[in-house]
Amino acid sequence: MVSETTRDGMTWYECNECGLLFDTEGDAHQHEQNCDSEDPSYIQ
Ligand SMILES: [Zn+2]
Repeated sequence: MVSETTRDGMTWYECNECGLLFDTEGDAHQHEQNCDSEDPSYIQ
């Protein structure tokens, strides 16, 4: 999951799995798909 957070008047997007912050929502979602902390709940 990615959650929106505001710090110092800027909006950041935080990976809920590992806590990394991104300045664009797209980067956050892209990271989320590759995040090692996330349990693989699907098979490709
Ligand atoms: Zn992550």
